[in-house]
Amino acid sequence: MNAIRSDFPLLQTTLNEYPLVYLDNAATTQKPKVVLDTLYQFYAQEYASVGRGLYALAENATARYEAARATAAAFIGAQPQDIVFTSGSTHGMNMLAHGWGNAHIKAGDEIILAEWEHHSTLLPWQHLAAEKKAKIVYIPVFPDGALDYASYEELLNARTKVVVISHVSNVFGTTIAIERIAQQAKAVGAHFFLDAAQSVPHGMVNVQDITVDALVFSGHKMCGPTGIGVLYLNGALQKSMPAYHLGGGMVYEASFTSSSWRPAPHRFEAGTPPFVQAIGLAAAMTYLTQKVNFKQMRAQEAELCSRLIKGLALMPRAQVHGPRTQLQQQGHLVSFSLSGVPAHDAAALLGAHGICVRAGNLCAQPLAKKLGLEGLIRASFYIYNTADDVDLLLQGIEEVLRVL
Ligand code: PMP
Repeated sequence: MNAIRSDFPLLQTTLNEYPLVYLDNAATTQKPKVVLDTLYQFYAQEYASVGRGLYALAENATARYEAARATAAAFIGAQPQDIVFTSGSTHGMNMLAHGWGNAHIKAGDEIILAEWEHHSTLLPWQHLAAEKKAKIVYIPVFPDGALDYASYEELLNARTKVVVISHVSNVFGTTIAIERIAQQAKAVGAHFFLDAAQSVPHGMVNVQDITVDALVFSGHKMCGPTGIGVLYLNGALQKSMPAYHLGGGMVYEASFTSSSWRPAPHRFEAGTPPFVQAIGLAAAMTYLTQKVNFKQMRAQEAELCSRLIKGLALMPRAQVHGPRTQLQQQGHLVSFSLSGVPAHDAAALLGAHGICVRAGNLCAQPLAKKLGLEGLIRASFYIYNTADDVDLLLQGIEEVLRVL
């Protein structure tokens, strides 16, 4: 574990003269030196644009970019042509809603989302539904963070065109029974799109094992740079989804009156792509693959959840919001509240002691309003977190409860 921590320069620093306890990994993760070095080295010694140039630097850049695509594909068990580089999960979800949704959703169609969806899923599909006069229906979420599977079955019908859901909820840490949801969607002829922002970073996704038409994730949540993410499209979707933004790079042939486009994935990557970031993401994925046994990593993260949940259980004013049993077996984040203490005040005081957690509605305002959970505090774990981090957080919470 220390071998891993020492790879991350920022984890060696202090915050307000306290050792840094970084527990906001569901928002974004820290970067290992190898990723920083890769970015520096590429900008300093190899930089040129991809795709067009016929000189050695440009050819190298193109080869590195396409190699990054192959690395990203291998990370989720896909083929390189299935991988569209985006700026992140939000971008990928907008491409699905505005590209696929715009072409295939019609008045009266139904789109199923879960109540816990991140704003990055909620808003694009809400916007599309309003434009098309389609209807969004929501799978209810119970106060303990469990999904209401029985209601989901009742919501499905011949009008259901697509089911879009987070694999792991960023609010509760709940992992869904993905294949069950996918198969039931398929049984009514609906498409199934996955927000894998909170699962791919933990090595939870192999597209060979799940039935999924498309999925999105973000590089910055898995040790990669900001500004890079992946939209995976299966073969059928690549053909049935029009590009939603157009420009250079995707063109096969253009005239003053019309143009034809290259096949996927380049058809979906108009403009100069974020190729340095993609190369940085590939370095992050290679780092993770070489350094981490994902099964062990998930067991260790669940162990940290368990330690935190048990510690909070000893504090009468603390309440965990989430599927405790599941989190202790396979979780990587724990959301909780402290009675009588506004979440933002608690997070600010913890921050003053070097402890970084998230507070608020966690980008899921409708759910927070429905369940009265505006004041959640979330601690989220990644490969470099230790039992010491949890113990320092628990001590910090005790201090918060004493002071506030
Ligand atoms: N979905 C989930 C479940 C998330 O947790 C996040 C990030 N908090 C996103 C989508 C959006 O990711 P990004 O901001 O990188 O586009």
